[in-house]
Amino acid sequence: MRKLLIAGNWKMNAGPTEAKVLADEMAEMWKSKDFNNEALICPPYVSLPFVVKSFRDSFFKTGAQNVYTEDNGAFTGEISTSMLKELTCDYVIIGHSERREYFQESDEFIASKVVKSLNESIRPILCVGEKLEERKANDQKTVVGTQLKAVLSQVDEKHAEDFVVAYEPVWAIGTGETASPEQAQEMHAFIRSLIAENWSPDAADKVRILYGGSMKPANAEELLSQKDVDGGLIGGASLKAGSFSEIMAIAEQTTK
Ligand code: PEP
Repeated sequence: MRKLLIAGNWKMNAGPTEAKVLADEMAEMWKSKDFNNEALICPPYVSLPFVVKSFRDSFFKTGAQNVYTEDNGAFTGEISTSMLKELTCDYVIIGHSERREYFQESDEFIASKVVKSLNESIRPILCVGEKLEERKANDQKTVVGTQLKAVLSQVDEKHAEDFVVAYEPVWAIGTGETASPEQAQEMHAFIRSLIAENWSPDAADKVRILYGGSMKPANAEELLSQKDVDGGLIGGASLKAGSFSEIMAIAEQTTK
């Protein structure tokens, strides 16, 4: 059975001081408690070293919110996989809708970052999802299919266990509106079937597919109990130790 991944995306929130307080609080809440799934926090780059340190003696993992495709050189403002590895980052979020929208990241560029991360043993969390007008036009499968296939065509299925997809309907991110459990399950099953078609059914079974879009303690159980929902990518609710921790506890209950 796939372990659930409960991942927090702090976006451009929590600089070093705030991040340390928040990460310490989370680590303290779970101190000497078991967690049988996986918990991950992705803070802004500048806060990563502090969060890594706060989580040193805990099961919490850390990840970045972006990465570049080159190892080093004249790429002002960018960060490489080797730099993330030096900080012991386990994961990196790639192709978040905010990066696609505000920084014009293309499917091809996103695919090259996924390839680079997998080659360097950092697990990518590839974000895919449709906008509101695309959902209204019933185009969600075409949109998500295009985003996903651009990456699947560049990646070998031997990476299936390390490859994570986050289905994040853009209309549900930061809006308080959530996909219904049925809508989420339908899209997750579709994503898994595409992976099976492009890779193999065996590989598709290994890939974890997270749901993202206003997940919170009040809706986590119905979402996480869907067959093809293997965790959550959580923005707003990950900025409070209490609510993130509650979602983690729900994940434990769901997989008992
Ligand atoms: C996200 O940032 O990926 C996200 C899902 O945000 P929120 O939970 O705030 O909707």
